[in-house]
Amino acid sequence: MNTQPPYRAWVEVDTDAIVHNLKIAHEAAETHFLMPIIKANAYGHGMETVAKALDNVPCVRYFGVANVAEAQRLKEAKTRNQPFILGPTLPDEREEILRNGWGCTVSTLDEINHFEEMAAGGIGDGLGLHLALDTGMGREGFMPADLPKIAQRATKLKHVRIEGIMSHYSAADEDADFTKDQQNYFAQCCRELKRALLIDHIHIAASAGVLGFSAGNATMARPGIMLYGVAPVESRLSSRLKPALRLLSRVVLLRDLPAGHTVSYGNTYTTTAPTRVATIGIGYADGWPRSTGGQGASVYIRGVQCPILGRVTMDLIMADVSQVPEVEVGDEVELIGPNQPVTRVAQWAGTIPWEIFTGLGVRLPRIPKAKGMTNDE
Ligand SMILES: *Cc1c(COP(=O)(O)O)cnc(C)c1O
Repeated sequence: MNTQPPYRAWVEVDTDAIVHNLKIAHEAAETHFLMPIIKANAYGHGMETVAKALDNVPCVRYFGVANVAEAQRLKEAKTRNQPFILGPTLPDEREEILRNGWGCTVSTLDEINHFEEMAAGGIGDGLGLHLALDTGMGREGFMPADLPKIAQRATKLKHVRIEGIMSHYSAADEDADFTKDQQNYFAQCCRELKRALLIDHIHIAASAGVLGFSAGNATMARPGIMLYGVAPVESRLSSRLKPALRLLSRVVLLRDLPAGHTVSYGNTYTTTAPTRVATIGIGYADGWPRSTGGQGASVYIRGVQCPILGRVTMDLIMADVSQVPEVEVGDEVELIGPNQPVTRVAQWAGTIPWEIFTGLGVRLPRIPKAKGMTNDE
């Protein structure tokens, strides 16, 4: 009857939805290029699968990753588009970057000089560096006073070149005035640098910037969370994003507890009436946040919302299934999906959807959604 392998907990990924969301991102971004962000195992969706699904979309230029280990994984997946390492690089990572010609950012003249020296030593030629500018994020990038110095140094580089200018909005989902100031200030810095340098790529916006602000002078955008169906801000296009992931588990045991029986660690929950309790095969070791315990969190079984009882344990949770008389051992349990969006789970856990997605554990197999099962477009 059921041909699925008997996973206890797994993630179902709909790459068609991710491709669809990329197209929405491209429309919203109003830039020629996109750098889809696939760091942290593509926000839990599976890096290789997502990269392969997006690799042949023409607007894609680079895949955004966090570090060399992720870039290496992408290299092994043999995608057409190269990885781009978003954050600062460690000195010991740079040789690998240079050898492979991966995209990366620089925030200091020392970094530029280090790349130039290594390239002059024959390790790899023509690497395209992206100048990071700190427009308010306070995480990386050159400061305004540095601009004349960079421009001067950049024009003298022989073995690496400055291919892009980038920055990062720090409050695009919270502070429109600040974001507009950031955008103007970034544009002004770019103008100054472009007097001295030939620049291919200019980028500053992540998902919130893409959805909430004009492209300005940008030629590329860096959408992350929106590719996975979550809109950090409401906009004309945000309602067209499709969730791409379901987090699923199974009922592993069904029991009837009498009234007055405690459930889970710490005895924080006591049944008030005879209760049908399902024990479900997922826990905080799989990335279902322990902090959802006692927050009114639920799961869906046979389309019915069932309250989680007591604390989340490492490998199991308990839910009240008294309202689902037909429930059976082995039944599928939806923890994230059409009935229960990730935003709601994040609220229970007191966090943001980014953290829920990226916390989805290595123990969960990522299973592609069977084709032809969508009920839309
Ligand atoms: C993670 C990241 C993004 C993507 O952010 P979302 O909010 O998920 O769209 C873009 N740019 C940089 C520099 C990042 O670190």
